[in-house]
Amino acid sequence: MIICKQYEPKALQMLEFFQSWDPIALAIYHCPEMITILVIEDENSLQLLLKRLFGREGFKTFAAKNGSEGMQLAKSRRPDLIILDLGLPDVNGQYVISEIRKWSKVPIIAVSAFNDENTIVNILELGADAFLEKPFSLDELNARIRLFLRKKMIDNSSDLSLQLGDLKISNLDRKLHGPKGSISLSVFEYRVLSLLLTQPGKIFSHEELINEIWGPSYKHAIGSLRVSIWGIKNKIAEAGETRELISSIPKVGYSINPLVLA
Ligand code: CA
Repeated sequence: MIICKQYEPKALQMLEFFQSWDPIALAIYHCPEMITILVIEDENSLQLLLKRLFGREGFKTFAAKNGSEGMQLAKSRRPDLIILDLGLPDVNGQYVISEIRKWSKVPIIAVSAFNDENTIVNILELGADAFLEKPFSLDELNARIRLFLRKKMIDNSSDLSLQLGDLKISNLDRKLHGPKGSISLSVFEYRVLSLLLTQPGKIFSHEELINEIWGPSYKHAIGSLRVSIWGIKNKIAEAGETRELISSIPKVGYSINPLVLA
């Protein structure tokens, strides 16, 4: 997730305060760019239409044209909501739902031209949150999306806790839980760490991290990035993980040491 562009650097501190208070409400009403939606749909025209619709709403959209690509993006991008077509060229939508449900409670809205009762019951039992028959009204889709996102923000119950060496990083309270105790991460520290953890071993460049975490208009946030990394490293040690989890590559970027995760 990223901080929306319209916020000036000076306002970021205030934004961080509000996010710790009610992150989803703030995101929806004031900063929709922070919301990411994954569209898994092989029909080009519909994919394009949805991307346009979500773009107009200010959401950040990722699209996949088949199930495998969709499952991969769901894992690497951690969207806030997924729109899933049930008829995909490689695997069926039911399989995609059951795979994603093994590790995430992200809201899934399934769409299909087939509306027989058995299919609908089946996909809801597998863990989809809603079903829309094609062709659906964009207003209805939009209303459903807002409902789920609002609910998600209120519950804040998505199960995105991550394991990092001897530590657990919980998205529910944004804390590092380790053998020596639980330490709170700031919003930015949490985001930097979560992003690094999407691909352990990969070197994320300074630009890449800044772009994703602070937003493209905040290109010179290298100082803020260093402060966040410094904070994360200290807190990791404070929580009781003594190994070097984050590698700094001077003038390039940062990565998570995959050996520690093994
Ligand atoms: Ca299809």
